[in-house]
Amino acid sequence: MGMRKVRREAFLAAHPYCIFCGGEVKTETVEHCPPRAMFQDRAWPEGFEFPACENCNHGSADDDLLVTLLARTDPFTEAGDRDGRMTEIIRSVNQKFPDLIGKMMPTAIEARAMNRRLGIAPATGQTNQEAGPVRVTDEMHRAVRVFAGKLTKAIFYMHTGQVFPTDGRIGLNWFTNAALITNAGRYPVFDVLQGLDGLAPALVRSKSLLNDQFEYKLSISHESDLLALQARFGQGFGFAVFACTAGDRLDALFANLEVRTGRRNPFALI
Ligand SMILES: [Zn+2]
Repeated sequence: MGMRKVRREAFLAAHPYCIFCGGEVKTETVEHCPPRAMFQDRAWPEGFEFPACENCNHGSADDDLLVTLLARTDPFTEAGDRDGRMTEIIRSVNQKFPDLIGKMMPTAIEARAMNRRLGIAPATGQTNQEAGPVRVTDEMHRAVRVFAGKLTKAIFYMHTGQVFPTDGRIGLNWFTNAALITNAGRYPVFDVLQGLDGLAPALVRSKSLLNDQFEYKLSISHESDLLALQARFGQGFGFAVFACTAGDRLDALFANLEVRTGRRNPFALI
């Protein structure tokens, strides 16, 4: 038996059940969450390997592709394509979602209005469409919902050793880099949650820090039943999640939030 197989068998023995669908289905594969392709040269952070059943791993391949595209889209620099893989990623997106790139591109009139609102001036030789942020489509909303759910369960498992239960609930608020552009490189929701105590670990591979591509902050209650996760993917997008292992407590938390702020709860259940 080769070392690769030995490592795999050891992983399956240590993590016998899929952590993405409630912990009752046997582990069949090793899932990388976030997907490896999101990282430059596929150098994903150490430790971000999770036990998954076949369904949970391969069922979200298309969503992984879209969040990879989104994470690598950088309105400020070419940092998202340091490894030169963007062409390949865009080609795959085009193959799986033939009309998506067209839908992501705002019309010239929309782009002009959007850039004016965001204070973006196209560089010389650049059109408003090329300079502006992408338009978020239904496919992208779906992909981020699926991905945010999986990453929440993965990080919950990593920090507590427990599988997120099927009757737990997750509320999501996500934002693209358009929010970064209007807010001097910061996400407004993170500013609101800044006072929350939490853990924001350094993410590394071979001693290289990867936090410029993916970073997160986890706040979790003593009983490990209520958590807030803030995650950011390069200059591409970010999200905040509130999750609860007993679903109805999350409903109560959101209802309370609405009463206290007098605003509609910005977190949508996924
Ligand atoms: Zn599963």
